[in-house]
Amino acid sequence: MAARLIDGRAHAARLRETVRARVEAIRAAGQRAPALAVVLVGAEPASEVYVRSKTRACAEAGITALEHRLPESTPEADLLDLVVRLNADPGVDGILVQLPLPPHMDAGAVIAAIDPAKDVDGFHPENAGRLASGLAGFVPCTPLGCLRLIEDTIGRIAGLDALVIGRSTIVGRPMASLLLNRSATVTIAHSQTRNLAALARRADILVAAVGRPEMVRGDWIRPGACVIDVGINRRTLPDGRSRLVGDVAFAEAAEVAGAITPVPGGVGPMTIACLLENTVRAAERTP
Ligand code: NDP
Repeated sequence: MAARLIDGRAHAARLRETVRARVEAIRAAGQRAPALAVVLVGAEPASEVYVRSKTRACAEAGITALEHRLPESTPEADLLDLVVRLNADPGVDGILVQLPLPPHMDAGAVIAAIDPAKDVDGFHPENAGRLASGLAGFVPCTPLGCLRLIEDTIGRIAGLDALVIGRSTIVGRPMASLLLNRSATVTIAHSQTRNLAALARRADILVAAVGRPEMVRGDWIRPGACVIDVGINRRTLPDGRSRLVGDVAFAEAAEVAGAITPVPGGVGPMTIACLLENTVRAAERTP
């Protein structure tokens, strides 16, 4: 393997440590601990796992996690009422509504109801617009974590060619905005893109956020490129066991890239660390 391995766990541990220090400073100034309201509707197993790991990470950083669990059958109006109450609650700094919501709910309407100043997931249209406009605001945690990894690995981004594969509002679009705001020359690819491999071969920075196991092959990678693999896919092995793989064929890509994130242990740990950072930022702005 020629590439440097980007150790997301180590980066995340360092970021969590700085968050913990900021929480201690808030407490030392006589304020209450930062508080994150985590709303979970229904009992989808993957969402349960995410909520559990987020609340555990909050506790380790000294952040109070306030869990609100609602049954799957909750009417949308009741969830909106809860969001309005959390917006008005001075004891809550950040609000996170775990997605996906049940099919009878309009996730866009629920996200739009969150006070943008408490929108630590960065999904509110106001925060999305601020990011797209190059203004300060809350930035979605996964692309923010990717940016941190890229900057810590290669330093200056300005002038580099970046390819972001995927255009979701959660990863691809905000990732492209973050790179553009750092003056990279950004291409966004999606399912209708032609000649994806040729575009990839030009990229100094390649971010794959697709959800297709090992779609990006080694011969797509520009020698020396920084490769960030956001994908989390479960692949069943011939012996029936399963393992997580990314959107990048890791072993092949690592022969060519300059630096690459593994799956697991790359982008994933940074996502939660950035959520903690956004929450402490929200608390620091609370008078
Ligand atoms: P979405 O399904 O919302 O978006 C996938 C994107 O990939 C779409 O824009 C789609 O294009 C594009 N796409 C699909 N097929 C192709 C193709 N053949 N060629 C090029 N582009 C294609 O996914 P998310 O953005 O939410 O997540 C992407 C991946 O990242 C998933 O594996 C997810 O599990 C993972 N993830 C990991 C996180 C972490 O913390 N590590 C956090 C969030 C997500 P189009 O728009 O045209 O349909």
